[in-house]
Amino acid sequence: MHLETRVLVTGGAGFLGSHLCWELLQSGATVLCLDNFFTGTRRNVKDLLDYRRFELLRHDVTFPIYVEVDQIFNLACPASPVHYQHDPVQTTKTSVHGAINVLGLAKRLRAKILQASTSEVYGDPAVHPQVEGYWGNVNPIGPRSCYDEGKRCAETLFFDYRRQHNLRIKVARIFNTYGPRMHPNDGRVVSNFIVQALLGRDITVFGDGAQTRSFCYVDDMVGGLMRLMATGDDVTGPINLGNPQEFTILDLAKAVIEFTGSRSRIVHRPLPQDDPRQRCPDITLAQQVLGWEPKTDLTEGIKRTISYFDGLLGDKEIGPLIKQQFGAPAPSPPPLAGEG
Ligand code: NAD
Ligand code: UDP
Repeated sequence: MHLETRVLVTGGAGFLGSHLCWELLQSGATVLCLDNFFTGTRRNVKDLLDYRRFELLRHDVTFPIYVEVDQIFNLACPASPVHYQHDPVQTTKTSVHGAINVLGLAKRLRAKILQASTSEVYGDPAVHPQVEGYWGNVNPIGPRSCYDEGKRCAETLFFDYRRQHNLRIKVARIFNTYGPRMHPNDGRVVSNFIVQALLGRDITVFGDGAQTRSFCYVDDMVGGLMRLMATGDDVTGPINLGNPQEFTILDLAKAVIEFTGSRSRIVHRPLPQDDPRQRCPDITLAQQVLGWEPKTDLTEGIKRTISYFDGLLGDKEIGPLIKQQFGAPAPSPPPLAGEG
């Protein structure tokens, strides 16, 4: 990357954004991290604040942005169902008004702009694995729609700005990504299972656990996003980024129990409405166009993530808060007759 490339990362204090800001700094860029701290925290980027080339700006993307940059990564949007359903109207506004604002900025600056889209644009997919040409199976009026349809509309806006204003756009469809700095209470499956296991709480598998997801380690994902941004103006995507290794949620629960050495029990809870039954990216396009594929397998990635959450739970300030939010451990079963 050119030494003086100025990059705006919206949602830069979140899970993916904070890793991306770090990698951009390592590549020599000047990074402007914009966030309203809805799900992101200053803590995620505190080590970056010492860098002269890093700046943190509190701002909501639903309001216009006036800055001077060469590239924009638009990541601002809560990503976990618990958080994006907390204020669904704001979620849609963040995706739609946010896209309009960053696209307007890119238009004025003639900047390259990348949208963090999602596998959720495929909804509960009828095509498996999902290819970019598949238009999806999305409920427009359900509890996940604020996120799914907001992201779909953002994709529409990106491509209309391309057609109408010849903008230099890139659309990445990101599949489930995990790793250090996920929010401990955002209810996403990897962070939830790990914290539950480390605290000895029940592991809550929704439904029978036969639904599948494909989990990509954060470092791999950030590498893919940076490669996509580095492509020429003819490459717009949409392009799937994710790890094509597919697991059932029950398998994930068992793996987390094994790697943490936890004595937690697996319990089943009702499956949320519109929960996709299967999800796995076809990454042929990313392999061909970006020469990219994930390198970190689930065992390695989960172990690194466990070690992060172990540290967080041991933190004097944050640890007790997380424990409180995860509730008291389930009472031990009464001793069997004869056990003393
Ligand atoms: P995250 O919740 O950790 O990060 C989102 C960030 O955006 C947070 O820092 C939050 O405070 C910020 N934000 C939210 N609304 C905002 C607003 N109105 N203005 C400014 N900032 C705002 O989630 P993440 O996992 O890091 O996801 C980042 C992006 O990647 C999101 O756009 C998400 O949709 C997309 N994505 C993530 C995944 C995944 O598995 N992690 C999968 C698909 C897509
Ligand atoms: N899930 C689960 N237990 C949890 C959290 C999630 O079984 O404590 C399931 C959820 O129902 C879904 C899968 O794990 O089938 C992935 O959920 P997540 O919220 O991480 O992401 P998304 O559904 O958006 O892929």
